[in-house]
Amino acid sequence: MYASYCCGISSFPCSLFETLQHLGGQCSAFYPDKNIYGVPGFSDTKASDFIDLLKKQTFSLEYIPDIINKKITNIEQDTEFFSLNNGEYMAKYIILATGIGDMIPNIPNDISGIDNDFVHFYCIRADLYKGKDIIIAGGGDSAVDFAICMKSIAKSVTIIHRKDELRCDSHKIGKLNDINVKLSHSILSIEKNHKIITDKGTFTADYIIFCYGFRAEPGAIAGLTKLGISFEDDLISVDIDTMQTGNKKIFAIGDAITYKNKKKNLVSCFFEADKAVRMIKLLELQ
Ligand SMILES: Cc1cc2nc3c(=O)[nH]c(=O)nc-3n(C[C@H](O)[C@H](O)[C@H](O)COP(=O)(O)OP(=O)(O)OC[C@H]3O[C@@H](n4cnc5c(N)ncnc54)[C@H](O)[C@@H]3O)c2cc1C
Repeated sequence: MYASYCCGISSFPCSLFETLQHLGGQCSAFYPDKNIYGVPGFSDTKASDFIDLLKKQTFSLEYIPDIINKKITNIEQDTEFFSLNNGEYMAKYIILATGIGDMIPNIPNDISGIDNDFVHFYCIRADLYKGKDIIIAGGGDSAVDFAICMKSIAKSVTIIHRKDELRCDSHKIGKLNDINVKLSHSILSIEKNHKIITDKGTFTADYIIFCYGFRAEPGAIAGLTKLGISFEDDLISVDIDTMQTGNKKIFAIGDAITYKNKKKNLVSCFFEADKAVRMIKLLELQ
């Protein structure tokens, strides 16, 4: 969305393809009720409210993107233009912002009972957890963010993490009061009667939310390698100075990409979007 806003600023007509029926990527799909962290100027804002503001901004200019609710399945080079989805659409430049692709959560396959319906893989809806005993499995930023978000809603919140320390940004540690943190605990099984069995004891929860991250599948668009795009661990390699991929007219930004010290967060996405569109502008001026 922000890349298409940057196109609007430069008066470039642009189409925004989105597989899902709603905009906002992971913010809308995975954590609409959670506060966003690390975005300048926003200290107490829910992801869904932030996405509403981003939409408002995107549609505020004279050049607004065409929103096309379709998945891009293949890209081919056709002289000066690219052909998308077997010629259904044409584009002079492409910015890939495919994030983690089809958004498949990492599901631990060594834990039995994972298929119980009180086991979730992201925070479905905050009101579902109101007055409930919640266990959050994981120790990274998203696990800690959900725990902080949930502590004023749920009856109790417990973080269970298999390592001996949390991996979240350090300023969040001070917000963990009223949250039970169980480190060095490995979950072994989840029983139908809501018992969570670990190697150090048994816990009870109305819901357990696994925050083990998501699998990236950016390569799901056919034809990228043929166009000169290369991957590292399934992520698109880019030139950090220009956001260009191995194909000079195809750019990539956000969680779909990798470069040295890349951080998967919103601020990086905005920086990269701005950079990609500036490079397109330079190419157009040549
Ligand atoms: C639980 C959780 C909490 C987080 N909290 C924060 C936070 O507080 N602060 C922060 O800065 N970051 C946070 N992040 C990270 C942040 O959400 C991501 O860095 C950001 O959403 C990445 O944006 P993106 O546009 O690259 O990808 P995404 O948000 O993944 O969006 C990509 C979009 O592309 C669509 N798509 C994919 N493939 C295709 C295709 N072939 N055709 C059409 N559409 C396609 C997908 O449907 C998706 O909507 C969090 C992440 C998670 C999972």
